[in-house]
Amino acid sequence: MSRHVVVIGGGAAGFFAAVTCAEALGRNGKVTLLEATQHLLAKVRISGGGRCNVTHNCFEPAELVKRYPRGGRELLGAFHRWQPRDTLDWFSQRSVAIKAEDDGRMFPVTDDSATIVDCLQHAAASANVDIRTGTSVKSLNFKDEKFSVHLSNETLVADRVILACGGGASAGGHALATSLGHTVEPLVPSLFTFNIKHALLADLSGLSVEDAIVWVDGLKLRERGPVLITHTGLSGPGILKLSAWGARLLADCAYRFTLKLNFVPAADTKQVAASLASLRLKEPRKQVTTWNPFGIPARLWERLVQTAGISEGMTWANLSAEGAQSLCHWLTSAELPVSGKSTHKEEFVTCGGVRLREVDFRTMESKVTPGLFLAGEVLDIDGVTGGFNFQAAWTTGWLAGQSAAE
Ligand SMILES: Cc1cc2nc3c(=O)[nH]c(=O)nc-3n(C[C@H](O)[C@H](O)[C@H](O)COP(=O)(O)OP(=O)(O)OC[C@H]3O[C@@H](n4cnc5c(N)ncnc54)[C@H](O)[C@@H]3O)c2cc1C
Repeated sequence: MSRHVVVIGGGAAGFFAAVTCAEALGRNGKVTLLEATQHLLAKVRISGGGRCNVTHNCFEPAELVKRYPRGGRELLGAFHRWQPRDTLDWFSQRSVAIKAEDDGRMFPVTDDSATIVDCLQHAAASANVDIRTGTSVKSLNFKDEKFSVHLSNETLVADRVILACGGGASAGGHALATSLGHTVEPLVPSLFTFNIKHALLADLSGLSVEDAIVWVDGLKLRERGPVLITHTGLSGPGILKLSAWGARLLADCAYRFTLKLNFVPAADTKQVAASLASLRLKEPRKQVTTWNPFGIPARLWERLVQTAGISEGMTWANLSAEGAQSLCHWLTSAELPVSGKSTHKEEFVTCGGVRLREVDFRTMESKVTPGLFLAGEVLDIDGVTGGFNFQAAWTTGWLAGQSAAE
């Protein structure tokens, strides 16, 4: 008997699910992919600053799941079935070579997201996926083991439906999932930058600290990584990771909190204090502003010294105990007031979505409505920046596509 599978959403998860399903079904069925907008794979195209950070070179599922503030536990089994290595093989079999950068992010060797978009579209065409753009699904019903997929002026009948409508409050997938009995965890942004107005950062936009610890007292949020000063405050992997793990807590405090920073993470406060004390003996005639012992960018070091209340021209020999203590404080536990957030344009995702315990992660089938499968960001899954969000889309899309064909 020929099976009709309807995939809702023409993003990364929807395409991967549709191609996988159509290839598995072969002549035994038909896959229709419906995309509300005129643009297929729009996020893939703009992703990674136009380069598409396809995945991350982390091939150990137990390690991989640590990069997901939400969904890690559920994804463990799924990653044993489809992980970054499988993603690389899939693209390689379709003549797309992918390279790793030093920080583990993986991009097509062309450094062009169009390579990934073209590959997915060719794969869909070869597998005879019937793609309809400008086709928004208005509602979904399930009766007598069949789905009615209601469009503006037409209704399609499907044996199985794969919901891959993406995240975000504007995505229509959550309402469709709710109408079929699912619960949606509240939606809040993840992967954002912090707005900070403080003399320490003024006019230093563009400077980055390669290694810093950032934390929020009282919220159990602590991350280590590069931090970038921007014209609105702070960004960089360390900050983005903190925003992801703290997505809900930081939303709860309306993005107003005190951020703490340690610019010398390799040493603790006592060791930094000891280093500063030793400089008073070792380099007595050198100026504090210009003799920077911790490899901090020179202009930032100068500003830290200034913020610590140490006057210009002060030598290490003349630095008072209070001056040294204040500098140590600004180096190891600087306090900066965060007063809002900004969108990180290179990558952002939604925290929240369809509740994970309502989905069987061996198949991505709904436990509420049999025959309904869910994939991608419509689920309450999100990762930190670095290719983990697409990997979740490829993995859940593949599983959903495979299972919907079985
Ligand atoms: C600017 C930006 C850059 C990013 N860069 C990266 C990156 O480099 N690496 C990475 O891992 N992640 C990145 N991400 C995150 C990644 O893009 C998402 O996690 C991923 O695209 C989710 O895929 P998806 O298929 O679940 O959803 P989407 O890509 O959002 O696709 C869902 C699709 O469903 C359609 N749709 C919604 N409702 C309906 C409906 N009712 N009927 C029909 N169609 C509907 C939408 O129009 C959309 O096309 C980035 C995100 C952004 C915003």
